[in-house]
Amino acid sequence: MAQQYAQHLLDFIDTSPSPWHAVDSIEKAIQIFGFIQLDESSKWQLQAGGRYYVVRDDSSIVLFVIGNGIPAESGFRIVGAHTDSPGFRIRPNGATVSEGMARLGVEIYGGPILATFTDRDLSLAGRISFLDADKRLSHRLICFDKPLLRLPNLAIHMNRGVNEEGLKLHKQNELPLLFAQLASEQLPKPYFLELLAQIADIDATQILSWDLAVYDTQKGAFWGANQEFYADSQIDNLASCHAALQALLDKTVLESACRTLVCAFFDHEEIGSESHIGAGGSFLADILQRIDMATATEREDHARALAQSFLVSADMAHAYQPNFPAAYDADHRVCVNKGPVIKSNANRRYSSESVSIARFIQWCEEAGVPYQRYSHRSDLPCGSTIGPIASAKLGIRSVDVGCPMWAMHSVRESAGVLDHDYMIRVLKRFFSD
Ligand code: ZN
Repeated sequence: MAQQYAQHLLDFIDTSPSPWHAVDSIEKAIQIFGFIQLDESSKWQLQAGGRYYVVRDDSSIVLFVIGNGIPAESGFRIVGAHTDSPGFRIRPNGATVSEGMARLGVEIYGGPILATFTDRDLSLAGRISFLDADKRLSHRLICFDKPLLRLPNLAIHMNRGVNEEGLKLHKQNELPLLFAQLASEQLPKPYFLELLAQIADIDATQILSWDLAVYDTQKGAFWGANQEFYADSQIDNLASCHAALQALLDKTVLESACRTLVCAFFDHEEIGSESHIGAGGSFLADILQRIDMATATEREDHARALAQSFLVSADMAHAYQPNFPAAYDADHRVCVNKGPVIKSNANRRYSSESVSIARFIQWCEEAGVPYQRYSHRSDLPCGSTIGPIASAKLGIRSVDVGCPMWAMHSVRESAGVLDHDYMIRVLKRFFSD
């Protein structure tokens, strides 16, 4: 079963090369479960037991199942995660040429390990905005399902110190990605626009703008003597989105929900969450308020619902890598395939506190799932998640958890097969409680 869930996860990641595609994959996955899409600009009429979802700007999505009890009496059970991963985004006028080599200028999105993007079979995926035949503004997801781009390394003969000093890439000058060899009469910008037009099946003159992410075309794979590990891009944090979704779509969870269950998957976590679709924006707060407006009878019901709610912020954790023991606090080494990690940080980089941690431990024990405790080294800056942001915004108690993984923010991350299954099981328990 664990291997099947992990394979399902790899398939989900491989069909989700960008945050826009991740939301599209989620919409496709929930179709057979009878979820109804709600438009934020329309009036809502919600039914007890109803299944709904809202997409904001194509890359953030909130799904919810209205429980049998009204939220004012039983609160919301929310799992939050993020749809974006660090990497590169294409600049608006990015196409240039040098000695016939066409390149695409990129901006760095979030905090990727830049060196891991060299010598990979990269490509482009994202969203394109254009005028359709009736001159209406339209948007379409595009993906070049083949290697299109590359960042070739410098040969060691020209970079003799690379193994001693590490691969350092100048962020402005050394990251443009090679994408074509042009004849002297070909100009890079129209050439690139034509590529986009072809893949979007429109005319180049119709294109107005785009959001394009660079992705690695290599599919996910299992590895290890017993295939107990898996590798793919974007494990941080599509693995948590996938685990939460699998838990929500469980037959028993869906059909016997008492509380209102919510999955909130946000874009823009890797760049601080401050946007109208990020965890720091109004998206989730707006949705919860509207659920209450549609189901409440008293004005104070919304506050009562929030006061009884709980947020599990699910994001990946740093697994112990035995080659680098000094990178970890010796008493908080967490290992792959040993269970979900509960993250603590005294400076609230994680939202967990003793009560929320205790609740999560109870859910792990009730689900028969092992758990681990993580605390970052004091002499290294600690990362963060949507947990503290969403929890503060909503006034809801929260715990930060995640599966242990290696090489966070590499273009090729890896993690343990068993942990994914454990996470799904404990989130099912959380939703059923
Ligand atoms: Zn993350």
